[in-house]
Amino acid sequence: MDLDRLVEEISNKLDIVSVVGRYVKLKKAGRNFLGLCPFHAERTPSFTVSPDKQMFYCFGCRTGGNIVTFVSKIEGLEFREALDKLATEAGIDVPEFKKGPDRSPDYELMSATQEFFRENLKHSPLPQDYLQRRGLDQDIISRFQIGFAPTDGKLLPKYLQSKSFDVERAKVLGVLSREELHSYMRARVTFPIVDNRGRFIAFGGRVLDNSEPKYLNSPATPIFEKGKNLFALNVARSHIAKLGRAIVVEGYMDAISMHKVGFPETVASLGTAFTVDQAFMLRKLGADVFLFFDGDSAGEKAAFSAIRICFQAGLVFKIVRQSVGKDPDDLARIGPDAVNAALAEAKDPVDFAIAYLESQEDDPTSPNVSKRIVKQATEILESISDPMLKMKYQYHVLERVGLTRQELPIINTENNKNKKLNILASRLLYENRIIRALLSDEQARNLLLPCLFADYFIDDSCKKAFCLILENKVTFGKIAWSYVLENNEELSSIFSRFAIMDEEQDIQGLIIDVKRDVAAKKQRMIRKEKADSVSLDDLAELARLQKVRHKVQEEQNDKKERQG
Ligand SMILES: [Zn+2]
Repeated sequence: MDLDRLVEEISNKLDIVSVVGRYVKLKKAGRNFLGLCPFHAERTPSFTVSPDKQMFYCFGCRTGGNIVTFVSKIEGLEFREALDKLATEAGIDVPEFKKGPDRSPDYELMSATQEFFRENLKHSPLPQDYLQRRGLDQDIISRFQIGFAPTDGKLLPKYLQSKSFDVERAKVLGVLSREELHSYMRARVTFPIVDNRGRFIAFGGRVLDNSEPKYLNSPATPIFEKGKNLFALNVARSHIAKLGRAIVVEGYMDAISMHKVGFPETVASLGTAFTVDQAFMLRKLGADVFLFFDGDSAGEKAAFSAIRICFQAGLVFKIVRQSVGKDPDDLARIGPDAVNAALAEAKDPVDFAIAYLESQEDDPTSPNVSKRIVKQATEILESISDPMLKMKYQYHVLERVGLTRQELPIINTENNKNKKLNILASRLLYENRIIRALLSDEQARNLLLPCLFADYFIDDSCKKAFCLILENKVTFGKIAWSYVLENNEELSSIFSRFAIMDEEQDIQGLIIDVKRDVAAKKQRMIRKEKADSVSLDDLAELARLQKVRHKVQEEQNDKKERQG
């Protein structure tokens, strides 16, 4: 049995509505069911379940998928584990889909190591003094499960051996150093990194004095991928969902200090640059994000680089900067009021980006520099996949830099702005209808797939969906779930959205519109790109496209007459 068939059979036996109903209170709304999204904080329901399609989609946090995706997300299981669980419940025996390699001995080893560090801290006055000096009390130490890796690196391997753990495996897991039987962390306060299922997957360590490196993280291992976890998210997750807000800092101590003074929605990026994966993790929680990086110029640069990442992940976010150049830890030690004041003054990302770019220039007011800054700022906006948002920000950049209509071809009057946004909105709706039709209607596929092309779509998710339909022959009848849902969260979200959308009412009308518009767009592209050197072939193509447009026009006239 292939994976798609298996998912279909599970859906038939268990039904997505009743499985989701175990976790979410659902109300019937037309053909679908509505409820409050379990994956982000919301007051009005935007979480939709379709019994026809056996799919769910949240219009708030854009999480979507089928019965297996839902269970894997809500139970914190891997896709295959959720599949196994549901198959068992449905009474379907599928040995070939049993979950992958059993990693539980790895997590037991990590737990034992964590236990060792915790016990050690209890008997080590030096790190205890250090933590006390940093103002960390017992409550914080136990909340973050802080430990201590002793100076004698031989103690940990001895301990693991006494518990019959495989020391070679401990090397692979980054607990022991690769070369010799020695603890990887030595003479460091340890902060365990915990995954979304509460398992220890790595450690961060900080020295007690000023020696370098100040911070050391576990190396990448089979269970720990760098840039794919956030420190303290295990403690902060429920607060983030409840408050609808997350604060991202750079260091362990920054995060812990923030928690201590009453900001339990704080997480740390774990010493790497803020990554798209991390941004997506916060996006999933439906949180507005405050990037609160170190006060020095390195922190400022890191914040600037993170803007593109946050836009890419579709985050709503602001940048917190300190005029006094302080780190979050310094500010938290002054007190919660100081932190609140800093958060209240958080900057819009575009304002921050422009201020940052200006600060890199000798003469930011000269017209040429202004234009360069607009260009650089606009490039950052390219990573925004929502075209409405992108355009709003483009206007914002122009307003911010004070360029006028004469200086740049983009129009900047309020009226035109609204008009343009309206045109864009209807364009997006139109593109969504095309994808919906391609997924659900065979005639639309046969007639439109040969003439459509990826760059026809200005909406990023429509473009991605189109490419996947073209390459993998994905349709609602036979969606390649095995590929989409297991491997790609973004596409899974996109396709769930189209599945939940209303049926297209006027397929014929849509097909005619698309054919005409595609021909017109191709003509415009040829004229624009080949303005100086139109070849005979180009002319022939232009003529052919003109014929297509005429023919489509005739079809449309016929249709009107028939409707009459
Ligand atoms: Zn949601």
